[in-house]
Amino acid sequence: MSLDSSVDRRKRPQTSSAVNGNVKGAVEDEKLRLRLRPNENHKPESYEDMQLEFSPLLFSSLEQYLPFNMLNLSRELKLQYMRDILFRYSPEGERARVQRHREYRQKIISNYQPLHRELYTMHAANFFLPSFLKAINENTEESFRSIMVEPSPGVYTFEMLQPHFCELLLSEVDNFERWVHETKFRIMRPNTMNKYGAVLDDFGLEPMLEKLMEDFIRPISRVFFPEVGGSTLDAHHGFVVEYGIDRDVELGFHVDDSEVTLNVCLGQQFSGGELFFRGVRCDKHVHSGTQQEEILDYSHVPGRAVLHRGRHRHGARATTSGQRVNLLLWCRSSVFRELKKYQKEFFSWCGECQREMKEKQRLAVTATKLVCYI
Ligand SMILES: [Zn+2]
Repeated sequence: MSLDSSVDRRKRPQTSSAVNGNVKGAVEDEKLRLRLRPNENHKPESYEDMQLEFSPLLFSSLEQYLPFNMLNLSRELKLQYMRDILFRYSPEGERARVQRHREYRQKIISNYQPLHRELYTMHAANFFLPSFLKAINENTEESFRSIMVEPSPGVYTFEMLQPHFCELLLSEVDNFERWVHETKFRIMRPNTMNKYGAVLDDFGLEPMLEKLMEDFIRPISRVFFPEVGGSTLDAHHGFVVEYGIDRDVELGFHVDDSEVTLNVCLGQQFSGGELFFRGVRCDKHVHSGTQQEEILDYSHVPGRAVLHRGRHRHGARATTSGQRVNLLLWCRSSVFRELKKYQKEFFSWCGECQREMKEKQRLAVTATKLVCYI
């Protein structure tokens, strides 16, 4: 899959400030407003052919309320103007969405009968390997490094889960999917890229996964990912993805909606499905090229975890036979996200920002030398 076309296509829509900026050029100083009464004579455009965050019909209806001087502008400009207005109201939409999701979760939890209840509360000694537990208990960079390999900067791999835990979780997911199938319950898939898999948080595993993040992943992230909010992780999204010939086969190149991602292979028999990494990038540089030292291909081993920044560009190659199931925990920091809004220029964790900075410094040094020679 090509770098430029597939990276991060599912990301959030443009921020409203960017949209606003574009429109301002065309409609000078026009405040973002709609008319009170529709212009009945205006024939709206169709937006059916576009991939939009809101219904195309909504845009067609809204178009009649645009200020007069906008009606004959291009469809793109009208669209941007209307999107910006709609986004101003999206926090409310977001609240409604959260509420709907809470109800959806509640409905599942009150109807679904778990198969292995012991999975639903944290039993560290039963879930994790002794080596992993020991490192966490010691809670030092040295103890973490003693169980880890860092095959490429910022990608850490280590043995983590007990085989028995992997089996139980796989069987629980199977059981949940059977229940979904039998009751014809419509479930939400983990993200916009995977058609198979299930959100573990949706059927009761949220408290256990919260513990996993707080007591096990945050201590490690505090040491290895402090500059992306590793010590303030406070929310998670936990799910499994399933790959195979009759499942999702591969996953295009992308970044995660997380600060730190834990990815553990649960099994079972498979070939292919390697994870490939191509460097950490900020929003601005997400499409930029890859340096040689950023290239990493990793083959999954059941029970073994991979931990990396969410902004570390990656993808999964085709699983060519068998079936592979991975547990994913996207860990987020609301503090980091809030602070990031005020920082636009340089991100220490972005490989390309770093490269640009070094290049600037090199040019500055060269310029100084030239001055000296003159
Ligand atoms: Zn950057």
